[in-house]
Amino acid sequence: MRCKDTIRITVDLERHKEQVRLKRKENITFFKRLKKTNPQKLDALIHPLHEEVFACTDCLKCANCCKTTSPLFSGKDIKRISKYLRLSPQELEDTYLKRDSDEYFVLKKSPCVFLGDDNYCSIYSVRPKACQEFPHTNRRRQHQILDLTRANTEVCPAAFEIVDKLKKKLNLNKPDKSGNKY
Ligand code: SF4
Ligand code: SF4
Repeated sequence: MRCKDTIRITVDLERHKEQVRLKRKENITFFKRLKKTNPQKLDALIHPLHEEVFACTDCLKCANCCKTTSPLFSGKDIKRISKYLRLSPQELEDTYLKRDSDEYFVLKKSPCVFLGDDNYCSIYSVRPKACQEFPHTNRRRQHQILDLTRANTEVCPAAFEIVDKLKKKLNLNKPDKSGNKY
C-alpha cells in the first residue's frame, strides 16, 4: 500500500514518549472497553489501519523495538540464525541469549546486538519470527492479544498511531455509564 497521507508519519521518539505518558490512562480505559467489542469485527478494523500506518512509517528512522525490547527466540529461530552466523546453536545461546522468567530465550542486552548504527538489522533475512511480526497488528484474532498491543503502543510509534486511529473509528470517546471517557 502507498502512503496516502500528504505528510509521512515522522518517527519522533521523544514526541512518542510524551504522547505515551499523556495518553496512558486513556489507553488503559480504551483497551478495557475494546475487550467488550465484538471479537470478529476487530481484525477487520485493525488490519486496514496497520496497512495504512505502516505505508507511511519508515522503521529505519525508528528501530525503537530493536533498541528497547527483546524478541523471543524460538528453537527454529536459533537454528536458522546460528546457521547464518556459522555458529552452533549452543554458541549462539551462550554468546547472545539468556532465559527470561518464563524460560523463553531473549537477548542478553538491549539495544539488540544485531542492530547497526544505521538501524539496519545485520541478520534481517533470518531474524526471529517475533521481529518479523512486530507489532503484531496484522495478526489474526486481535482480540486475544489486546494486552500485548497496548504494551506495544508504548514501544512502537506505529502501533500507537494505529490505536489512535482505531479510537476515532470506533468513536469510543463518549463517556461510558460511569462517566469515564474511553
Ligand atoms: S534481530 Fe534484527 S530485527 Fe530483531 S531486534 Fe535485533 S536488530 Fe531488530
Ligand atoms: S515496528 Fe514500530 S518500533 Fe519497530 S521500528 Fe517500526 S515503528 Fe519503530
